[in-house]
Amino acid sequence: MAVVGLDMGNFSSYIGVARAGGVEIIANEYSDRLTPTYVTFDKSTRVVGQASKAMEITNPKNTICNFKRLIGRRYQDLFVQQEKDLNTYSIFEGKGGSVNIEVNYLNERKRFTPEQVAAIMFGKLKHITSSESTSKAIDCVIGVPCFYTDTERRAMLEAAHIAGWNCLRLINETTAVALCYGIYKGDLPEQTEKPRLVAFVDMGHTALQASIVALNKGKLKMIATAFDLSLGGRDFDRVIMDAMREDFRKRYKIDAYSTVKAKLRLRAECEKAKKAMSSNVQPMPISLESFIDEKDVTGKMSRAEFEELAKPLLDRVRCTLMSLLKEAKTNWEDVESVEIVGGSTRIPAVKQIVQEVFRKSPMTTMNSDESVARGCTLMCAILSPTFKVKEFKIEDCQPYPITLSWHGGINEDNEVEVFGRWNVIPSSKILSFYKKEPLTITARYSYPNDIPFSEARIGQYTIEQIQAQPNGTPSKIKVKVRLNRNGIFDISQAAIIDTTTTIEEPVEDPKAGTENNPDLNTSTNSEPMDDNSNPSNTGENQQEKDEENEEPKKVATKKKRREIELPVVSRVTGATKHELERLVELENDMIQHDKKEKERSDAKNAVEEYVYDMRGKLDGGQYEKYADERNRQKLLNDLRTTENWLYDEGSNQDKNVYIERLKLLKNLGEPIRNRYNEASNRPYHMQEFMKALQRVDEAIQTWQTKSSDKYSHLDKSDMEKVYKLLIEKQRWYDQNATRFNSLKLQDDPTVLCAQIKQEKEAFERECWTILNKSKPKVELPKETPADVSKKQPPPPPSAGGPAPHPQPAPPPPNKKPLKNPPAQTQPPTANFD
Ligand code: ATP
Ligand code: MG
Repeated sequence: MAVVGLDMGNFSSYIGVARAGGVEIIANEYSDRLTPTYVTFDKSTRVVGQASKAMEITNPKNTICNFKRLIGRRYQDLFVQQEKDLNTYSIFEGKGGSVNIEVNYLNERKRFTPEQVAAIMFGKLKHITSSESTSKAIDCVIGVPCFYTDTERRAMLEAAHIAGWNCLRLINETTAVALCYGIYKGDLPEQTEKPRLVAFVDMGHTALQASIVALNKGKLKMIATAFDLSLGGRDFDRVIMDAMREDFRKRYKIDAYSTVKAKLRLRAECEKAKKAMSSNVQPMPISLESFIDEKDVTGKMSRAEFEELAKPLLDRVRCTLMSLLKEAKTNWEDVESVEIVGGSTRIPAVKQIVQEVFRKSPMTTMNSDESVARGCTLMCAILSPTFKVKEFKIEDCQPYPITLSWHGGINEDNEVEVFGRWNVIPSSKILSFYKKEPLTITARYSYPNDIPFSEARIGQYTIEQIQAQPNGTPSKIKVKVRLNRNGIFDISQAAIIDTTTTIEEPVEDPKAGTENNPDLNTSTNSEPMDDNSNPSNTGENQQEKDEENEEPKKVATKKKRREIELPVVSRVTGATKHELERLVELENDMIQHDKKEKERSDAKNAVEEYVYDMRGKLDGGQYEKYADERNRQKLLNDLRTTENWLYDEGSNQDKNVYIERLKLLKNLGEPIRNRYNEASNRPYHMQEFMKALQRVDEAIQTWQTKSSDKYSHLDKSDMEKVYKLLIEKQRWYDQNATRFNSLKLQDDPTVLCAQIKQEKEAFERECWTILNKSKPKVELPKETPADVSKKQPPPPPSAGGPAPHPQPAPPPPNKKPLKNPPAQTQPPTANFD
């Protein structure tokens, strides 16, 4: 089972795979480790990654990027409205206020949610992963921005599910980077020592995230994060674009934003210049040929000018980093080092600000682009049973406090902040309530203005089947709330405490009548690695102890205590199970359609390729002499007709129509191609055949002349067999060599190269099975010196008996391989008759 980490950024995606030798970032079909996060809906298919990015200018309305920012959001959300202005595709309000992206797909207007588009991208990453490794990639860990709220996290999981990934965990990108750093860093302090504080700054295409992490050997603790979720590379591109627009307006009297295509072309050039400015101080050109009104335009910008224009953005970088120090309740002196990752931290002015805030040079210990994917892969390896990873404890935290509220006593609502700011994830708490009827708890982020999301509400959870105790008093309800390892809030379990007394005595519950107060001494269980721990562990035990301490005060008799699980009905955002199944089915249908379309277009391409290839080779090319004139003209004519057909009614046909068309062309063309191939390869095969004959001939001569004892153990009958084979094949060779010499180029040969090869191999196999027979092992008797003196000379090579005929002196073997096989070879040199 493959162990995979996915970093699907707004601009670029990376896939990490855990291997025995460590983490490897795998390449896509273009041998590129970066796969652009782009999806295009085309007339007949969907195009994803590099090919999609290349289509952005020609098909801007149907090419979707930056969709990661839309995941889980509502249409009315301010961020969605901003994205509407920044992107070229159409965004509409969908069912229930959701975001819908409208595209022209398969010649129809179709709407997709951002989660569906993300699923298409995830599907592409899955395809790259599984075509790269033999095992089916299912398990993965996915990086998400640390500022993602509950709804966005759920939506990300849905997208991964639609694409067929089994996401073991969502990990904050900040945490993934810290893990990637911490697990390999050899000089961290021991766990008993004071941890080392390291700051990580990640600025990508759309957002800036920064974190301060306490690191020890085998342990990381996220202290705090800070972010600006609308500050990234694209905003810097925009600064250059705006300046160029103004410049072109003045100098060329054109508006560079007047068409989508022009704006996209300008953006691509400005991004290129921005990158170039990172390593050059001299002014960088921004040139566009045949731009608006066919004008060739050119502008330039220097790094100093760029930094001046980008000052407001750079101030925001400083502001975010300062707030990070504040949130972490630390100062620059305590931060021992700063690591920068993400494409936009390559901007020298950004590095400069990092340096100024932390007063130390930013380091690039990790690969700037791949560290998130590497961290995700390491996390997946830690979670997966397939891998043994050295123990590493990860204590992540979440930035938004969560408050629970529930309807309480008469005219009274209650609430409690259940998870504070920087609460560890994963963690769980157990709350106690005293209730007689179903309890509905609402979870929300405590400070709606502090979250980068339009909706503070997380979900509503109803604990059903709550009944009063037999004596009419409220029952004690234990509710387990948790922040799971994906950073998602959940009420996973609830139970009623059933207390049955052996003596009928009223239970004096001190909490009776205060049913609307939860037990605020909630027990906490932080689960650094696994939030699936049995609730009867740690926190829950603690809770039980509390109860036991408190129970004897209430009653003097023995009590039997039983917990009965209660059903919890959750109402959270996101697709229902049924809806999710429908989306999976829909995606699979589209995958099947893409597959069919690919086969169809491959078949069409094959016809096109054949037409151009054959035409060139038949008309003055290497095949010309291998076809008789009538056939050549006929085929050339067919090729011309097919070319016209391809641009006309043949432009969009079924796969089988193309296959059939190609077959017809090949009926005429392949015999010509084969004749050419045969004629080109024949000399080589004949030469090889000749060499084989010579080698056997030499072996026979060696045996005869006894020039070496290599074959001396072979008897005459063996050598006769070899000789017979040699004569036979020599004849075969000579006959065919004669035929080939008189063969016309337009005629089909009766013997093909494959047969020559086959004959040669069969001949060699038979001869050398005999010639390579091993020598018999001879047990040497213990000899006295007298025996040695009596010894006879060894018997002749004809295995003991006298040779039936005198052996003629063999003529010298034909040793040199012939460049061009002769029509008639030298006769074999040995003679047994
Ligand atoms: P996000 O984190 O917002 O989801 P991402 O992770 O996909 O986006 P990255 O791949 O980290 O983004 O960074 C891409 C950005 O980095 C692009 O805006 C690109 O122009 C910018 N970038 C890449 N190389 C350089 C460079 N040498 N100088 C300046 N900017 C660069
Ligand atoms: Mg990123």
